[in-house]
Amino acid sequence: MKVITILSGLLLTITVDAQFDSGKIDSDLMLKAHQLAKEILIIDTHIDLPDWLYDEWFDVSTSSDYGEFDFVRANEGGLNVAFMSVYTSPQLEIEGKSKLKADSLIRIVERIEQLYPDKFKIVRSISDIDRFKNSNKILLALGMENGSPIESDIDNLRKYYQQGIRYITLSHYKSNHICDSANDPERKWNGLSPFGEEVVKEMNRLGIMIDVSHISDSTFYDVMRLSTAPVIASHSCCRFFTPGFERNISDEMILELAKNGGVVQIAFAGFFLREDINKRYLQGEEEIKEHLKNFNITPGTDSAWQYESQYWKENPVGQATVEDVANHIDHIVKLVGVDYVGIGSDFNGVGEHLPIGLEDTSRYPNLIYELLRRGYTEKDIRKIFGENLIRVWRQVEEAAAGTE
Ligand SMILES: [Zn+2]
Repeated sequence: MKVITILSGLLLTITVDAQFDSGKIDSDLMLKAHQLAKEILIIDTHIDLPDWLYDEWFDVSTSSDYGEFDFVRANEGGLNVAFMSVYTSPQLEIEGKSKLKADSLIRIVERIEQLYPDKFKIVRSISDIDRFKNSNKILLALGMENGSPIESDIDNLRKYYQQGIRYITLSHYKSNHICDSANDPERKWNGLSPFGEEVVKEMNRLGIMIDVSHISDSTFYDVMRLSTAPVIASHSCCRFFTPGFERNISDEMILELAKNGGVVQIAFAGFFLREDINKRYLQGEEEIKEHLKNFNITPGTDSAWQYESQYWKENPVGQATVEDVANHIDHIVKLVGVDYVGIGSDFNGVGEHLPIGLEDTSRYPNLIYELLRRGYTEKDIRKIFGENLIRVWRQVEEAAAGTE
């Protein structure tokens, strides 16, 4: 990494990453990328911060070495709206503790706002975003990853809406009481469960965005059949680049999602982005599973995560780059146009699997640079980095209002 300083009215220091560090960097374009990042609305639909704070509290209002998100780095990257992931592991559904955990994570996000009111603000609507987007605060929206905390009671879903949850990823890597998951060989429901159908209808009625990341293909098509509002994939990539990997979204599904006005928020994990990395990753996952089984370690627990993190350090699968992320954006643009793609990094969720050039929330300008370099206009970039998501959220709000 090297640092270049450009003098252009104001003094701007820009960190340049390894892949740009070849003398080929266009300084004017990089400056433009950094200026654009400050000007435009940047929304990242998937940041796994709450679970980190649940494990160990740290000061997110200053610069830290923990994970990829804090006020200083997010602000440097031009981030405006960060969806905080209220994540519960499939193991918690088995233990009946999903709701307990989700409630704690929501309290944690509220605590961030209470502790640092001049730096963070929780937003629950498009009008909240309009009101606070120029306040120099990082706006925190709530997305629930895994619908397990609904715990078979539709009233819980209503309570989560009241508490500010604005999207729900119906499952995580295991099938749950709502639907089948893309990562789970066991297909209990062949799509949505009967209760899951009720959940989708109620999410439409309340105005909660349906997140199709993590769910199986048949669940996706069930959702598309039922939902009266556009949907999002909060953190997914294109299956085109990782054939057979169901966790990524296929071209047919992208067409279907776009027809309904939805948006695919591209995730940054290397194993979602490239087939070579994906193959090594899946093999590694098998080895991790085997180890956990042999040593009687429950998946999803702290010791399981520790082992997994150690394993990846010892067995690196290779690193993707900013260009790989741009390739996925290009693919969706070519397939359905620039109105149906956005970003959902998965920062604080995939650690060592992040690409070179997108190591943390200060690095969004590098992706803007790459898109400018490929000929994307400022208008396109505004759509990709936030306006497309705003459009979907607004339509979900309007569809809900129409049902009351
Ligand atoms: Zn996820």
